[in-house]
Amino acid sequence: MKTKRTDQPQKISKPRVNVVTLGCSKNIYDSEVLMGQLKGNAFDVVHEAEKLNRDDIIVINTCGFIDNAKQESIDTILQYSTLKEQGKVGKVIVTGCLSERYKPELEAEITNVDSWFGTNDLQNLLHTVGANYKHELIGERLLTTPSHFAYFKIAEGCNRPCSFCAIPLMRGKHVSKPMDELVTEAKKLAANGTKELILIAQDLTYYGLDIYGKRNLDELLRNLSDVNGIEWIRLQYAYPSGFPMEILDAMNERENICKYLDMPLQHISDNMLKSMRRGITKQKTIDLVNQIRDKVPGIAMRTTLITGYPGETERDFEEMAQWVEETRFDRLGCFTYSHEEKTHAYSLEDDVPEEVKQERADAIMEIQQGISFEKNQEKIGKTFKVLIDKKDGEYFVGRTEFDSPEVDNEVLIDANLHYATPGSFVNVKIASAEDFDLYGQIVK
Ligand code: SF4
Repeated sequence: MKTKRTDQPQKISKPRVNVVTLGCSKNIYDSEVLMGQLKGNAFDVVHEAEKLNRDDIIVINTCGFIDNAKQESIDTILQYSTLKEQGKVGKVIVTGCLSERYKPELEAEITNVDSWFGTNDLQNLLHTVGANYKHELIGERLLTTPSHFAYFKIAEGCNRPCSFCAIPLMRGKHVSKPMDELVTEAKKLAANGTKELILIAQDLTYYGLDIYGKRNLDELLRNLSDVNGIEWIRLQYAYPSGFPMEILDAMNERENICKYLDMPLQHISDNMLKSMRRGITKQKTIDLVNQIRDKVPGIAMRTTLITGYPGETERDFEEMAQWVEETRFDRLGCFTYSHEEKTHAYSLEDDVPEEVKQERADAIMEIQQGISFEKNQEKIGKTFKVLIDKKDGEYFVGRTEFDSPEVDNEVLIDANLHYATPGSFVNVKIASAEDFDLYGQIVK
């Protein structure tokens, strides 16, 4: 009988790590960095795998932004900690914003979670699962998005005093990433087939002020635009006050910087902007939007608004609704105000009833739906460069340079009549349009 040689070290198979991501694109980015490090430590790592293994280590990257998001994070933690009790998974580890913000309370409430980490705890988390942080992997990550586009975090944290916002409590002060590191990261992504970089931060336009003593997002844009293989660079989360107009020069100069700008404006009435501590007035906001549109003709502007902020009168709301009608943003999202502890606004009375907050948000989105429909009609007969994201049922689904993934319009192409490879660019002539979707044919 052949006996097993005993001098051979027993290969201990590491448990698989199953990462679950909640919240915003910045959390997606952080999960991808974590997964890249785990892979670099020879772990089998997956993202939100449905089929679970009994010894799986579940890492939940949570969101702690506003009520709904917090509840979703808590429900997800409870879901997996119950599965652990049932012996269906091995360990449950929680990280991210909710854990950063409420660790002591959560630890006391949910006792069967193995470990809790904050938003800036990657090395400790890795150590806890038996991995080591590898500096040589900086700029490398495991994408959870289709590989042809990637969220590209250029800074962490925020120095702004917005009264309603808990993000600085969870993400700390603004810290820009060194330009050379970002360019290296972009080159690695491009080498792996990424064509679209979606630049994200809490406040994109603050880039460089901390480490270079000046705003130099425009310089970063030009350097990223020079990276071979990058065909689209998209800007998300620009801040209005002190907006660096020079980035629009880079946008006009460079074909591969999308004529797209996401700039959350939150409100327009001076009464609200002042109380929100946004550092900008109604007139300055209107002037800024006009200047941007003058400087980059055809630019698609996305914004985000809040309804039901403390003290918001019917008149404040009417003022915002009228401004939305007049400004005709290309893309718009609207949140209802969430009364967040330890924020400046928490000292104010949350005096707008929840149902009124929601009615106002619905009214704003109804106006926007009409605007989006009209703007989409104007696209019929025109041809656009479209990046194909996926095949979904009868359609290939893609986006123009005016659309960010997940939140904006989509272009649908009948898969019975056309073929396109996800991750490829095609020219599409728009044949018909709905509120938020365009339909078209692939043309040469
Ligand atoms: S800019 Fe304002 S709203 Fe945005 S993350 Fe910073 S504090 Fe929050």
